[in-house]
Amino acid sequence: MKEKRILLIGTGGTIASELGESGLEPELTSEQLLRYIPDISEICEVECEQLFSLDSTNIQPKHWARIAGAIRERYREFDGFVVSHGTDTMAYTAAALSYLVQGSPKPIVLTGAQKPIGFETTDSKQNLRDALTVAVSDLPGVTLVFNGKIIMGTRARKTHSKSFEAFSSINYPLLGMVRDGRIIRYIRPESRAVPQFYETVNSNVSLMKLIPGADCGVAAYLLERSDALIIESFGVGGLPTYKAGDYYETVKTGLEAGKTVVMTTQVENEGSDLAVYHVGNSIKRNLPILEAYDMTTEAVTAKLMWILGQTKDRKWVQELFYTPVACDILAGK
Ligand code: ASP
Repeated sequence: MKEKRILLIGTGGTIASELGESGLEPELTSEQLLRYIPDISEICEVECEQLFSLDSTNIQPKHWARIAGAIRERYREFDGFVVSHGTDTMAYTAAALSYLVQGSPKPIVLTGAQKPIGFETTDSKQNLRDALTVAVSDLPGVTLVFNGKIIMGTRARKTHSKSFEAFSSINYPLLGMVRDGRIIRYIRPESRAVPQFYETVNSNVSLMKLIPGADCGVAAYLLERSDALIIESFGVGGLPTYKAGDYYETVKTGLEAGKTVVMTTQVENEGSDLAVYHVGNSIKRNLPILEAYDMTTEAVTAKLMWILGQTKDRKWVQELFYTPVACDILAGK
């Protein structure tokens, strides 16, 4: 059988970092990473491409578009793709790639590590090996592989800042596990015969996390400066009403100016349900806001940037927002 060909795309992160005078900094290329797992040549042929070397704190939406562009350019040449990436914003990039490369029949796998590949104790080699194992399989679409877990790209979140067990799948089961070089599958996502690529993202999206007593002027300021505002409220969702009309009028003004407002929750599991309480129901019923339901904030952010890169028409934005892409939203409208 012909050996599978995988493209390993390097972008930086801890996995590629070395200790300098002011802490860890990404230095190694994807080619250098690969030298740490020489036996990988037994399972596939890997070609390397280094796009940039960034701590993922510095990754911006324009970098997502570059990664998607690199995959698009070389899509026919390879059987699968691995993107090595910093863990801090990897969930955002995984979500973004799920919107920029939709329905891929070939695996597109993100991975990284909590400890650099050159350290004596490191998760880098295992994660890279596992990611390549998934990339040679027939598991379609964008996934994040970390500490043996295979997570849907739209469902990943970094939930531990230090442990090797760094990522969780939010409001969706794991797609599978990689154990001792073998994939144990639970779910196979749907794919198309050919992927649909998108190039344009609109990064003018803001996020406000509510705290008790949060100044509504902050929401007004963000709405003025952004095309879309995501409000992470409490519980199943709602806006403060203790100052009559304060938040309601601010959101209404933003919507009248053509902005998109998405309500979500800062609670990690089970999502929003604005209709339940008066504080949520009153805005949901009277204003054309959108609701995230079970989507992660990472996915909401990337989805809005993708949608607003295509259209600002309210009806169309709403239609696209509620249309599931890569299992990002399960709950009803
Ligand atoms: N700060 C690093 C990054 O996100 C952390 C990591 O990769 O684990 O690039």
